[in-house]
Amino acid sequence: MAYELAPLPYHYAALEPHIDIATMHLHHDKHHQAYVNNLNAAIEKHPELGSHSVDDLVRNLATIPEDIRGAVRNNGGGHSNHTLFWNIMKPVEEGAGGAPTGAIGEQIIKDFGSFDDFKKAFNDAGVKQFGSGWSWAVFEGGKLKITSTPNQDSPLTSGLYPILGNDVWEHAYYLKYNNRRPDYLAAWWNVVNWDAINTRFATAKK
Ligand code: MN
Repeated sequence: MAYELAPLPYHYAALEPHIDIATMHLHHDKHHQAYVNNLNAAIEKHPELGSHSVDDLVRNLATIPEDIRGAVRNNGGGHSNHTLFWNIMKPVEEGAGGAPTGAIGEQIIKDFGSFDDFKKAFNDAGVKQFGSGWSWAVFEGGKLKITSTPNQDSPLTSGLYPILGNDVWEHAYYLKYNNRRPDYLAAWWNVVNWDAINTRFATAKK
């Protein structure tokens, strides 16, 4: 069974003005689609792997046959990371952003003192990620932690479950923000979906 790109869970313009419609079309329809296509091309060489979820492929990267491991790392990682990314955002008009709610809101205060300090740590990880990659929040040893990965590497490969992540590849922001990655990182908090992030946090704690 081939991996498939799900449609966006909202309209391409739903994250305006923070993420523009042209970026969303390019990012979802071209970049994410390419990761899915390249993953399917790799899996054709080992069709027995196609019964696993993409997250399981990325989680068990060390067991993937060596001839396609790099392709699965990059394209399976790309598919997994972007699927998470679309689903932890929601339309501005449906009340995206704002202060974190529920259990994740409480954990942020407990481990970082304030939402502002949490955002600062998360955004710093994104600004400092040299070249392409992701900033992440994970739950490890009973605490929220901020981390980053290069390229399409996922925390899943290190045995960690990503609760939220932001894409700091230039393709995620360059059309609107040009080289101003910090401005994109700051604006992104206006489109996060705290309900979806709370669902992921509950999974991370299991
Ligand atoms: Mn991307």
